[in-house]
Amino acid sequence: MRSFVPAFEMKTPSRLDSALELLSREPGIWRPFAGGTDLMVLFESGKLPHRRFVNLWNFNELRGIEVTRSHIAIGALTTYTDIQRDATLQREFPLLCKAAAETGGVATQNRGTIGGNIANGSPAADSPPALLVFDAELELISASGSRRVSYHGFHTGYKQMDLRADELIARIWLPRARGAWKTYFRKVGTRRAQAISKVCFAGGVQLDKGIARDVRVAVGSVAPIVIRAVRTEEYLRGKPLEASTISHARKVFADEIAPIDDIRSTSRYRRTVAQNLLEEFLTIANTL
Ligand SMILES: Cc1cc2nc3c(=O)[nH]c(=O)nc-3n(C[C@H](O)[C@H](O)[C@H](O)COP(=O)(O)OP(=O)(O)OC[C@H]3O[C@@H](n4cnc5c(N)ncnc54)[C@H](O)[C@@H]3O)c2cc1C
Repeated sequence: MRSFVPAFEMKTPSRLDSALELLSREPGIWRPFAGGTDLMVLFESGKLPHRRFVNLWNFNELRGIEVTRSHIAIGALTTYTDIQRDATLQREFPLLCKAAAETGGVATQNRGTIGGNIANGSPAADSPPALLVFDAELELISASGSRRVSYHGFHTGYKQMDLRADELIARIWLPRARGAWKTYFRKVGTRRAQAISKVCFAGGVQLDKGIARDVRVAVGSVAPIVIRAVRTEEYLRGKPLEASTISHARKVFADEIAPIDDIRSTSRYRRTVAQNLLEEFLTIANTL
């Protein structure tokens, strides 16, 4: 059933500090509203649990892509369209551009924000695997200051995260000059477009004469949160990417993930697909 519109309130402060002040005065009562592409789905189906929202859309200081010597900082309000079009991201963080290109359709890409994708905390979200591969950090701001946290470890459980009710995600920081990484991204859904992931896989490996010097494996829709498969990474580190290594890595990986049956897929299907994607990633990386 649709929501009753007059039961909701949206404030549009003209200044960011006013918005932060509102969030801190009544923590948990006022909730951030960015592109609204997740929130409006809940609103339309009568399942939006909160009533009061702070509109962030006009805060240009939380939007855009800034390049420094050591990092790229992506404002939380940056849309998927902006991400795909950015030349530095295309060159240095192609996985993120691929994830953005496979998120929803054009309308969602024009309005949906990367900060909203993270804060929504869906285990099926498509940008988190790419951010985990790139060792992203989050800058969180509140009326009392700011802090920077590693994105790996930010999600602590299903829809749970290290974000206080008075805080906003302000920026995502990606470290540059990480050396030569071979990267891989693949989203598997019911269709090629406008589908929620059954499995979303992002990988990166640094190879030295066929040996995996460093490796990142991040995957969505196989656990209550998007995960880094650290045990699989540990197993692969220092090994040649040959058939026996890949075959054993499939087993380590299968033990590390915990997919569930739901309306979109079965646990068995997700586990097998995730293993196949790991194998494809390692096989392709070895031939590039
Ligand atoms: C048709 C359709 C297709 C979609 N397809 C995909 C898809 O393929 N892949 C995918 O991953 N997602 C998909 N989505 C989900 C959605 O578009 C993304 O999660 C989007 O990035 C959410 O961003 P938003 O700005 O619209 O968030 P909003 O809806 O505004 O907010 C989402 C949540 O984040 C919080 N929030 C927003 N910004 C901040 C911030 N800066 N700091 C703290 N909290 C914040 C809000 O309070 C809310 O809880 C789809 C949605 C639709 C409607």
